[in-house]
Amino acid sequence: MMKYGMYIDGQWADADKTIEVINPATREVVGTVPFGGGDQAKLAVDAAYEAYRSWSKTTADERSKLLKNWHRLIEAHTDELARIMTMEQGKPLQEAIGEIRYANQYIEWYAEEAKRIYGETIPASSPNKRMIVLKQPVGVVAAITPWNFPAAMITRKAAPALAAGCTVVVKPSEETPFTALKLAELADKAGIPRGVLNVVTGDPAAIAAEWQRDARVRKLSFTGSTHVGKQLMRGAADTVKKVSLELGGHAPFIVTEHADLEMAVEGAIASKFRNAGQTCVCTNRIYVAAPIADEFTRRLADRTSRLQVGDGMLDTTDIGPLINERAVGKVKAHIADAIAKGGRVVAGVHAAEDRDGYFIKPTVIADATDEMLCMQEETFGPLAPVAVFQSLEEVVRRANESPYGLAAYVYTENIREAVTIAESLEYGIIGVNDGAPSAAQAPFGGLKESGLGREGGHFGIEEYLEIKYISLGI
Ligand code: NAD
Repeated sequence: MMKYGMYIDGQWADADKTIEVINPATREVVGTVPFGGGDQAKLAVDAAYEAYRSWSKTTADERSKLLKNWHRLIEAHTDELARIMTMEQGKPLQEAIGEIRYANQYIEWYAEEAKRIYGETIPASSPNKRMIVLKQPVGVVAAITPWNFPAAMITRKAAPALAAGCTVVVKPSEETPFTALKLAELADKAGIPRGVLNVVTGDPAAIAAEWQRDARVRKLSFTGSTHVGKQLMRGAADTVKKVSLELGGHAPFIVTEHADLEMAVEGAIASKFRNAGQTCVCTNRIYVAAPIADEFTRRLADRTSRLQVGDGMLDTTDIGPLINERAVGKVKAHIADAIAKGGRVVAGVHAAEDRDGYFIKPTVIADATDEMLCMQEETFGPLAPVAVFQSLEEVVRRANESPYGLAAYVYTENIREAVTIAESLEYGIIGVNDGAPSAAQAPFGGLKESGLGREGGHFGIEEYLEIKYISLGI
């Protein structure tokens, strides 16, 4: 059984109550963390506000060195962190190791970027003036993160924030707090000063309400559902905080008749079934050109049927459990709806009922139509509906008919088609012949109701910097 406290002001803190953390592969309790609330959320801001005074004055070199220490320790603890993640989140161990490495790339990248926070000088219109633009940290940052990437969603926020000179209070998902707390423990070992990074676990609404109310919190960075993101954005208005939101997606995956079919099938498998389909950039709906639809669907069904579902700790597992009962219910409802509306099951369907955990077989449904729920909203599970299209104009229109705009995928060997479709899609991330476009050095984020702001690369650190203009009379 694991047991961790909250990490506030460099100390491990308890609360009156605890939350049980469940292994979704076995439904067994793996440990407990404190069920913190508004009081603990406030203590964390007190600590972060106090620490900000000195942290914001450190040199970029000092911050960079400490971030590199943290990076090295995470690297040395990759296996341990990945095991914790698989236990509380369910993803196959190899994927968990991949996520720890990916999460750590953000720390390494921003450790370097800390040294490149440049200002500007602007030519003045008068000889006795100088115009200077400084970039300064925004202040205390509140980060609220989801369970699907328990490490990367934290480092993608904390690394640029710390590099910029901000201090951070984090609330990880109540489903996956251990990965977050282990990261905090390593930050502590790395020498990151007390109060600079704090992790509060517990009641999401109470913790978020405290941070929204507190004017000392100058920035809110959230990754999670669109519904909660909208609530947080409204709540941030009273104190006019800066807000970054990484919200839901509903990614279209377009295969034109000029696609390399093998590559397209592999891309669909990677972008659809990674993390059991619980990724905001996961393909949610597949559109295939009519002349190749049967062949593509046959190959996809065949490849999908060979994926092994099981406990993420086993070497043989390709697809782990879903996070909880609610997630299984949603996928089943989308499958039932698709079948009722004329969908044809060509692979999978329904739970692997012989197991204890929240397993569901990866499923492919052909003859999908735009009326189906899975073609209209994020399934967040291993269901791949395949629809047919007749013209590129038509498929781009159908792909864009969504309030979401996070990731989209296009498979074609024809460069003109690739450029035209990529430019026409109303999405923040486009994978052209690439089912896994995310990278620490690249901008990640969505259009429309998929969010505000970008994480990753030099774009990501701007979210944690204010611009200050100094007009200097001489
Ligand atoms: P969620 O919105 O339920 O939870 C996200 C976080 O918000 C958790 O820490 C949760 O405890 C907290 N939360 C829940 N209710 C809250 C409330 N009332 N006030 C304040 N905080 C609250 O989302 P989830 O189910 O954990 O994550 C899945 C969603 O996240 C999907 O929609 C997915 O697409 C999205 N997501 C987006 C990205 C991205 O970068 N765009 C990345 C990963 C996940």
